[in-house]
Amino acid sequence: DLPVIRDVPTADDMLDLGRRLSRILRKGDLIVATGDLGAGKTTLTQGIGEGLGVAGPVTSPTFVLSRVHASLGGGPDLVHVDAYRLGDASELADIDLDETLAQSVTIVEWGSGLAEWLADDRLEIDIVRGQAGDTRTVYLTGIGPRWAGALDN
Ligand code: ADP
Ligand code: MG
Repeated sequence: DLPVIRDVPTADDMLDLGRRLSRILRKGDLIVATGDLGAGKTTLTQGIGEGLGVAGPVTSPTFVLSRVHASLGGGPDLVHVDAYRLGDASELADIDLDETLAQSVTIVEWGSGLAEWLADDRLEIDIVRGQAGDTRTVYLTGIGPRWAGALDN
């Protein structure tokens, strides 16, 4: 599938992208987020959390593998995973993500190569730093029938 590509000049714009993305998210969705340290994966997740209206703050879960942010308004909870320190996919299996997957929106930072097996349908988000300044390029690729046409607007 061809990615949808977004230019994201500032951190505020990244929050905004997350907020707008949250409008199309629903229970059972898996997002696999990729990008170097400091690319903006957590910032994007903060925007998603705001948009979904979940309990915050959404921070870098560096010392815990995953955090559940409960919905404050009856929407899906947000499960935020940081796989940075994970060696392999079996460690991800150990935290039983599939138990909460169906009832939540799950986003896995550093999930590329680790988290794909969790769901056939998933949104892959790649964040790449620009040549200069704060700008980032975000590549959004929807995999599977769930995402067919979902990113069109
Ligand atoms: P990651 O989770 O990918 O390691 P973070 O979201 O924790 O990255 O950190 C990104 C840092 O870069 C934040 O300090 C943020 O304010 C800053 N930043 C600057 N410009 C941007 C941008 N265009 N998009 C996202 N973050 C940006
Ligand atoms: Mg992060």
